[in-house]
Amino acid sequence: MTEKHAPAAPVILWFRFDLRLHDHAGVLAALESGRPVLPLYIWDEDVATRPMGAASKWWLHRSLEALDADLRKQGSRLIIERGNSQIILASLSREFGVKTIYCSKTFDPKNEQYDEELADELAAAGLELKRLNTTLLSSPGALSTQGGTPFRVFTPFYKALLASGACDIAPLPSLPETLWPKPAEWPASLTVADLGLQPKFTPSGKDWSKGFSRFRPGEAGARGALRHFLKNHLQSYEINRDRPDLDITSHLSPHLRFGEISPQRILFETERAADADHRLQAGAAKFRAELAWREFSYSLLTQQPRLHEINFRRDFDRFDWRQDDRQFRAWCRGETGYELVDAGMRELWQTGYMHNRVRMVAASFLVKHLLIDWRRGEQWFWDCLLDADPANNPASWQWVAGSGADAAPYFRIFNPITQAEKFDPKGDYRGRYIQGYTHLCTGTNNSRKQAELFDKQDKASNYPQPIVDHAQARDRALETYKNRAAYE
Ligand code: FAD
Repeated sequence: MTEKHAPAAPVILWFRFDLRLHDHAGVLAALESGRPVLPLYIWDEDVATRPMGAASKWWLHRSLEALDADLRKQGSRLIIERGNSQIILASLSREFGVKTIYCSKTFDPKNEQYDEELADELAAAGLELKRLNTTLLSSPGALSTQGGTPFRVFTPFYKALLASGACDIAPLPSLPETLWPKPAEWPASLTVADLGLQPKFTPSGKDWSKGFSRFRPGEAGARGALRHFLKNHLQSYEINRDRPDLDITSHLSPHLRFGEISPQRILFETERAADADHRLQAGAAKFRAELAWREFSYSLLTQQPRLHEINFRRDFDRFDWRQDDRQFRAWCRGETGYELVDAGMRELWQTGYMHNRVRMVAASFLVKHLLIDWRRGEQWFWDCLLDADPANNPASWQWVAGSGADAAPYFRIFNPITQAEKFDPKGDYRGRYIQGYTHLCTGTNNSRKQAELFDKQDKASNYPQPIVDHAQARDRALETYKNRAAYE
């Protein structure tokens, strides 16, 4: 690498949920400006729609460290600040003679509104805020139905996304091979540790985040996860993606949430792998559709900026939710007596992640078997998930609850027992998270025999008895749903 001559007035490259260097329109634009680049991160809790959850903070800490290390390899570094974004951007710009700030759109409506106001205020001070899409394949609002309205149903949305060409990715430009031009002098910076993002130890002195280590936050971790997935699991993705015991999905969700990899890079590499080996094509098509669900969630978030608080279908506003704190706690702790639900909730607590199939079953159990408001579950996930996402999390919860735009019908109530038999047939997944678990299901359909076997197991392992009876809970859920219909 050669060092470039650096002109005096730098540009600011303001990172948010785009913590990577490659495939990043803002990074390229900042470098192409030919000016010194001041990479900046601001911890500004006032701007966010909601405070970041504890698991996400854990991720952010490591992701910022990784970004700083990557920048240092380019001869640069990450400047870390804490406080009001507008004040910090304005004062840094004044001090260093900055005229242009590059940043990514977050597509979180409150942030977007803030950014527009910020752009106006910075413009009044002679500063330009250039906001670029580095997050999604297609900006929400770019696609609409023939009637000109935003999509509320996934399948036509997906068809329109494909037809728009947003999924046809041309080879992505690479980063220049030169060291980044740096300012004559670096501004003072906090350290990542100063932000206090690390989770506290539990009262008993345990490190809650110990089990998060299966993930490697940062751009290199994201690229590694993609490579591993394409090489080992894309081929069976279509068939096995619903099997938590096999656990073959990409685990890219937290990387996507923090923008450590672009969806364009994921699609590009996926299509390239599928072009080279036609056996991967079915898996690639399914995987692409899952990435499109993420785009759809952001489109819903744009339609309802308070998606985590407000029912997309307003007829759910009068739903008669139960306030049962004891059962809610049992659900959070993975002590409902339903193994798949409990294994999932324990996976969440221990690893900061939960398999998608199990998320659906666990969420459905809370909302339908326990009749507890989806917002309480969503908030718990928001705090515990490493991939807690302002669009995907509430959109998925509302999908499960039936209150979402293109939601699962309310009467579709997952049976946690048959779901376990189907998607975790040997009990390997449940065994991973339920201590002392031995899979006693003999494959018989005789539910009484199974009940006896499970009963023996419960006694042996102190595993809790079911907190509700499945059939009764199902009937109660359907009855409550019908009553809701009566309000309309
Ligand atoms: P893969 O199967 O490898 O999928 C690749 C990518 O596609 C994912 O990383 C994700 O970005 C996207 N994707 C996959 N499935 C969905 C989906 N159903 N909806 C939207 N995008 C999808 N996903 C989050 O990223 N953050 C959340 O906070 C979140 N909360 C959820 C809550 C509930 C109740 C449910 C049912 C689902 C939730 N999901 C959430 C969606 C999904 O469970 C995760 O994206 C997926 O499990 C992540 O694992 P993966 O990266 O291995 O997925």
